[in-house]
Amino acid sequence: MARKFFIGGNWKCNGTLEEVKKIVSMLNEAEIPSENVVEVFVSPPFVFLPLVESLLRPDFQVAAQNCWVRKGGAFTGEISAEMLVNLGIPCVILGHSERRSLLNESDEFVGDKVAYALSVGLKVIACIGETLQQRESGSTMAVVAAQTKAIAEKVSNWANVVLAYEPVWAIGTGKVATPGQAQEVHLELRKWLHDSVGAEVAATTRIIYGGSVNGANCRELAAQPDIDGFLVGGASLKVACLLSLMKRH
Ligand code: PEP
Repeated sequence: MARKFFIGGNWKCNGTLEEVKKIVSMLNEAEIPSENVVEVFVSPPFVFLPLVESLLRPDFQVAAQNCWVRKGGAFTGEISAEMLVNLGIPCVILGHSERRSLLNESDEFVGDKVAYALSVGLKVIACIGETLQQRESGSTMAVVAAQTKAIAEKVSNWANVVLAYEPVWAIGTGKVATPGQAQEVHLELRKWLHDSVGAEVAATTRIIYGGSVNGANCRELAAQPDIDGFLVGGASLKVACLLSLMKRH
């Protein structure tokens, strides 16, 4: 079964109300390939989620950048998965490397979050990826396999999971992985899914790439057989760049 190309913009902790409205109105006016060809989502900071959800064209989705690991309650500062569902937010990014490194989110914690978010009906973009040190020591595959295993141990239905391979050394650095480097990991991940989860999940799960993707380098990456889309950070705040990514994939 063909895997529909999936492009997401992670706005991280950026933007004012005025900037967010401007980006949304530019996205709304843009002509992009039909939603049958490419699935698009944007992920604004929590405080802008309801606004973006209400203003954004219906063929684009909105995703949160995180949610709490279980049902809400006495967890000051957290946002529960149920709240996202209640607001009509269909999707959440979990396990981003910034949260893993800055907020010490472990593989197990991310696995628990993914399982909980799926259990309440959210789609999940689950991020994995190695640091530069891990790549240079030859442990890239062991690291991403361990991160994926922590998810696989808690998840039985992969229909609503997209894996985002984001090498940490490529995020926000301008050092994009070469198409060969990215394809190598995506292929290995697909083999890992095949052997550890099943042939059907391996064939149908989208594995998207993230790390300094922009309009200039996306075409070659998108041509790789196991790259099924992009998670875009910095370039997603520049609408022209995000649009050229959608058009050029
Ligand atoms: C990201 O934060 O997920 C990301 C890929 O960032 P950038 O595109 O800026 O490297």
